[in-house]
Amino acid sequence: MTIPRRAFLKDAAAAAGLVFVGCGIDGLAAPQTARAAGAARRLVTVKGRRIKTVDVHAHCAVPKASALLRRPAATVGGDGPLALDGQTLIDRLAVMDAQGIDVSVLSINPNWYDVERDLAAQVISVQNEGLAEFCGAHADRFAAFASVALQFPELAAQQLELAMTKMGFRGAAIGGSVAGRELGDPALDPFWAKAEALGAVVFIHPQASGTAPFTNRLKGNGMLGNVIGNPLETTIALSHLIFEGTLDQFPGLKICAAHGGGYLPSYMSRSDHGCVTFPAQCTPGVPKLHPTEYVKRMYYDSLVFTPEALRHLVAEVGADHVMMGTDYPFPWVSAPVDHVLDTRTLSDAQREAILGGTAAKLLRV
Ligand SMILES: [Zn+2]
Repeated sequence: MTIPRRAFLKDAAAAAGLVFVGCGIDGLAAPQTARAAGAARRLVTVKGRRIKTVDVHAHCAVPKASALLRRPAATVGGDGPLALDGQTLIDRLAVMDAQGIDVSVLSINPNWYDVERDLAAQVISVQNEGLAEFCGAHADRFAAFASVALQFPELAAQQLELAMTKMGFRGAAIGGSVAGRELGDPALDPFWAKAEALGAVVFIHPQASGTAPFTNRLKGNGMLGNVIGNPLETTIALSHLIFEGTLDQFPGLKICAAHGGGYLPSYMSRSDHGCVTFPAQCTPGVPKLHPTEYVKRMYYDSLVFTPEALRHLVAEVGADHVMMGTDYPFPWVSAPVDHVLDTRTLSDAQREAILGGTAAKLLRV
């Protein structure tokens, strides 16, 4: 007897212990899912040539890890319950098929940076095993960034090495800060050294981790903690990596920032002028290069919404440093492939790079 593909995939997701959740928005339904159910798979072409498309920004959670943390599986990033908890693999594939996404690179937003070492080690072990099992069973459609317990940098380095050398991961996903510690803190150097040595791609995703005076200003109408707090968190994270000299110390690091890098690529020239205008407030020789040189060295997802914003991001960092990202399952965007195809300032080669060419090379998918 042949098992229907849909039933098989649904069972496989359940067996691997994954649920697909998003990053910090309360109370959203899943309109993409309903819209996409039963849709045929869209095969994306550029100039008549079929290309493989890759989404580098997509979320999930491992319920067993959430149980260990005694935090609901739906709580990712500390922003409360997420309505997409329990979404099945077949739902996800239907959306990927309809949108023209061939491969999703999954990541889990850290919600374990405040726990003690033994528990953190268990959580990471369970999560990475769950992700590896799932991606191993569906290598044609899914890859993943590993989780690490970055509050213990030496442990995180070991976890990253195990994940990349034994479990098939392409890198790790981390937050924009670590339990109040900035990413440029020298305490994190063991992790950065290992990431550089392994050639890991480190995906930086913001989360609600600011101090109370900061987050209090983002309360009120409009979900400001997300719409401006998240890109600001990413801007701060990348700026510390630049201005504390981390990217000088580890020049081979491959950083990919969510949401188009937040606000940094939009206004990066100001960073070049700070130490020139006020040299007494900067450590001489740190960073070694103009800050914008480091911004151009990093990678960004394409989640900037409009053709004009994508044109500008590409103009600042280069098309070969932008990769398609959707933030799935959150319905921030419904046509991520068309966003790239419809940006008229891009050449076909640039479209192909953004839609999957660069990710395929960088992440070996
Ligand atoms: Zn996200």
